Amino acid sequence: MAGNTTNPAESRYERLVRNLYRSGGYVFAAKAGDIARQHGIARVARLASNENPWPPSPAAVREGCEALQGANRYPDESVAALTGMLARFHGGYSFVTGVGMDGVIETMIRTLVDPGDRVAVSVPTFSFYRLAALAQAADVAEIPRAQDFSVSTREFIGIARDAKISFLCTPNNPTGTVTPADDVREILSAISGILFLDNAYVEFSGVDYRPLMDEFDNLVIGRTMSKAFALAGARVGYAFVPGWLVPFYNRAATPFTLNTISARVAAGALGDREGMEEYVSYVRRWRERFREECPLPSSSSGANFVMFDTSPLTGDEMVRLLAGKGVIVRSCASFPGLPDHYIRVSIGDSWENELFLAAMEEICRPRA
Ligand SMILES: *Cc1c(COP(=O)(O)O)cnc(C)c1O
Repeated sequence: MAGNTTNPAESRYERLVRNLYRSGGYVFAAKAGDIARQHGIARVARLASNENPWPPSPAAVREGCEALQGANRYPDESVAALTGMLARFHGGYSFVTGVGMDGVIETMIRTLVDPGDRVAVSVPTFSFYRLAALAQAADVAEIPRAQDFSVSTREFIGIARDAKISFLCTPNNPTGTVTPADDVREILSAISGILFLDNAYVEFSGVDYRPLMDEFDNLVIGRTMSKAFALAGARVGYAFVPGWLVPFYNRAATPFTLNTISARVAAGALGDREGMEEYVSYVRRWRERFREECPLPSSSSGANFVMFDTSPLTGDEMVRLLAGKGVIVRSCASFPGLPDHYIRVSIGDSWENELFLAAMEEICRPRA
């Protein structure tokens, strides 16, 4: 007989679970369907997860359908179809791949970090670096950003100097802040470990950190197919890595971690550079409109989202007000190191963006 299946959390075997996972964990965006039902709204604007609102490239869909035909076989362990396309897209770099960039981050930490090793994280930022480092029993040290969310290289180097691996997100989630390549170069020259530069949103920024790969062999640049390439559901990430790191990463990775279908879908999407670039210019236009037309103060953003200051309301309060008008955005209250009065709003489809601006107008400038 199985135990109590209706509430498995009450099992006496719960004591077996690591303390780390008794509570907390990754914070997911509210489900659009749930909010729509609560408020009796037919169509909800989904602006909480930085997704591309448009469907994937037809080339990606075609490749995926073809790849399904061969799903009886294990994937090619060298993921050659994808890494070959990456080399065609970016030029002659070394790459590793994973199940989303999240998967790459997890494997990279597993490759490098022993229990008690220092992992440094520039905050406020994406929460998964910390979660993945704690899973490996790392000693996580946070490096606070300046008041304007820029990175102080002096502060960064002071804390990260002897870390095994340090995480710097640029453009940063959730602030949108872009760190200049010269600052990254200064950091790379001064630290003794690896710098993991998270470039999930780099396509929207106009900044190119790839040339730094030729100068440093302690730089890893994480990329994802989830944002600019519209493949969040396919879970494909990759990284530019120094050549020496490739065999070690592959040894630490779960065997066959990236499935055949997702790998081929990603390769197909990389073949459609024009489709990606069209979305990027669309995002840039709307990013400007968001900052000009939304009545709240915002930070300059190099990403496909904008962070707004909601004070005197908290981010959570603003999220509830917007949800009541059919607009789902992300409260930044769960980002450690950030005060509780910010929201992060993704650039969505045009109707979703218009709905957001209209809702903000009603909330901030109610007519008498
Ligand atoms: C979305 C995101 C990722 C990872 O996305 P995957 O879907 O796992 O590839 C990584 N870093 C940041 C900052 C992100 O916002």
